[in-house]
Amino acid sequence: MSNKADQKKIKKIKVSFPHMGSLHIVLSSMVKSLGGEVIVPPKTTKNTLSIGTKYSPEAICLPYKLLLGNYIEAVEKGAEAVLMINSPGICRLGEYSKSIKNAMEDLGYRIKYVDVDLYKSKFFGILDCLKSVTGNNNIIDIGKAIILSFNKIFVLDNLDTILSYYRAREFESGEAEKAFNRSLQWIDDASTGKELHEASREAVLEIKKTPIDKEKEILKVDLTGEIFMVLDPFSNQYIERELGRLGVETKRSMNLSGWLKTAIIPKILRKGETHLERAFRLAKPYLTRDIGGDAIESVSDVAYATSKGTDGIIHISPFTCMPEIMSQNIFPKMRQDGALPILALVLDEQTGRAGFVTRLEAFVDLMKRRKRQLTAEMA
Ligand code: SF4
Repeated sequence: MSNKADQKKIKKIKVSFPHMGSLHIVLSSMVKSLGGEVIVPPKTTKNTLSIGTKYSPEAICLPYKLLLGNYIEAVEKGAEAVLMINSPGICRLGEYSKSIKNAMEDLGYRIKYVDVDLYKSKFFGILDCLKSVTGNNNIIDIGKAIILSFNKIFVLDNLDTILSYYRAREFESGEAEKAFNRSLQWIDDASTGKELHEASREAVLEIKKTPIDKEKEILKVDLTGEIFMVLDPFSNQYIERELGRLGVETKRSMNLSGWLKTAIIPKILRKGETHLERAFRLAKPYLTRDIGGDAIESVSDVAYATSKGTDGIIHISPFTCMPEIMSQNIFPKMRQDGALPILALVLDEQTGRAGFVTRLEAFVDLMKRRKRQLTAEMA
């Protein structure tokens, strides 16, 4: 039987997935390119968090609560299937999909739960999941959809870097981000490689229209920590926007391109050292093995930022995250050994906004003083 006939037999289902920064654009692209239907969950808000918190175990980490909140809101909006990451790992991530599925079934949501099984084989896990939610078994279509969406990841990470440069220097706060948000729609709409190339070019030009002060004194800060918290602006309290307002250009050591190269793209097709390979190399004096989550990456990111002469590093983690508690306990030793200033932020649904902003402002002051002192010593 032909693939077209197969597709006819399989009823199309409306599929959804959680938010994590711009990830929804990538996943929407994959499913829509194969003829599937997508329900993007409403933007994560306090309401999402309170729904997720209500039906989660009290001490579970913040990403779990937000994912559950996203899923429930998506199903309420009409989703008939949800994609869930079933990932290898020493921490609770390995239990997320089972546990969320149980919680949703207890609430009476009879939908299709599709595990993107990264235990089985990263690439084939994605392949099986796409076939199951779109009914499209055509390997060429699937290959094209995967390449387009992976390219969207690289485009989005590049736009984030440009946004960060402009946001720290703009005359009028918020201008660069407005341009960035407009351009996200163009990336989302691109359905071929050619359209994506054009959308990316237009998006870069749009952000670069923002008037900036090129002479402004700027600090450069790397962000590391638990990947969800680093990438998801709601969970990290829009930290990059706040730092930009304070004249800080941010760089995420954790990003989707890095994850893609480490976890999905086969070794034979990669160029250079991946983030994880670099992590094992640089973290060695402090941590010799993977202890779950992104702990080894966090430790190595501090060493890397120190070697590059960055002004400071901010480590973001959710309350009760064991791997990141371990990495935070290594930072004092790294500071003794000459690492750059580190601000460790532990966030959850109780974190107050005013205290959070005060800590950022104090950290920025500290980095400014240190930078001026270093410059004076070198003069
Ligand atoms: S790394 Fe931390 S926050 Fe992420 S799933 Fe594991 S325990 Fe939870």
